[in-house]
Amino acid sequence: MLNVDLHSHSTVSDGALPPAAVAARAKANGVDVWALTDHDELDGIPEAREAACALGMRYVTGVEISVTWAGKTVHVVGLQVDETSENLVRGLAYTRSGRERRAQEMAVQLAAAGIPGAFEGALKYVGNPDLISRTHFARYIMELGVHSSMGDVFRNYLTEGKPGYVPHRWARLKDAAGWIRGAGGIAVMAHPGRYDFNDLALDALLTEFKQAGGTGIEVVTGSHTVDEYARFAEVAKNYGLLASRGSDFHAPGESPIDLGTLPPLPSSLVPVWHDWRM
Ligand code: AMP
Ligand code: MN
Ligand code: MN
Ligand code: MN
Repeated sequence: MLNVDLHSHSTVSDGALPPAAVAARAKANGVDVWALTDHDELDGIPEAREAACALGMRYVTGVEISVTWAGKTVHVVGLQVDETSENLVRGLAYTRSGRERRAQEMAVQLAAAGIPGAFEGALKYVGNPDLISRTHFARYIMELGVHSSMGDVFRNYLTEGKPGYVPHRWARLKDAAGWIRGAGGIAVMAHPGRYDFNDLALDALLTEFKQAGGTGIEVVTGSHTVDEYARFAEVAKNYGLLASRGSDFHAPGESPIDLGTLPPLPSSLVPVWHDWRM
């Protein structure tokens, strides 16, 4: 069975390794088919593709788009996109554009909560000045030794209702799915278990996602528990969505699940890669 990992990050967004090093780690872990899916960015693709090809891995172009839906943030992964698509490139540039201002506001709030110098501190971890993210702030707060896990840092500082959380308007669901489709790609709802939606909200999200051209959903992801693999396998079947598998790897020692180490998709599902030539 092929080891397929279709969700990972590099220093081009909030990962800790450059694209070629992520490729090498995927290969070392036995991955056969790999996608780099940096947040709102395509710039890592040439390096990732070259490294993957040199290592004999099948490379899949990818991106993870930040979306605001019903006032909440959801993520949509695009796979097999043409990274030269002008609409996609323009849409992502627009989606990224408010990040620096947001980061400055986050730093002001964090300073008031007893964490000074967070903007400069987070910047030390940033590989791409266009993509300063909450993850970079979390790494800085970890460095201060205030908390011993990233999860605790997010729970105490960087999530809704906590100091350091600055609401932001990302892309619209319809637009994100449209940019992916327009670039010849497949739109996949990322880690649905991470959104604390009830069944009604999840139904509304997936119905709208399908209307916008979305055709896939992550079932086995580093963001899901084993119970959620089963729950979202049922969801995939009920909504007629193709299933995806991806570690969501960000950094050694930081991500709970390493590249290529997840269990396989349940055999009753149709994988997003069912009709790929490979
Ligand atoms: P941003 O796009 O700046 O809002 O940052 C979102 C990123 O923060 C996600 O892609 C994750 O990498 C990270 N993140 C969010 N929640 C958590 C959490 N509870 N633990 C670790 N990382 C998280
Ligand atoms: Mn991330
Ligand atoms: Mn995500
Ligand atoms: Mn991700």
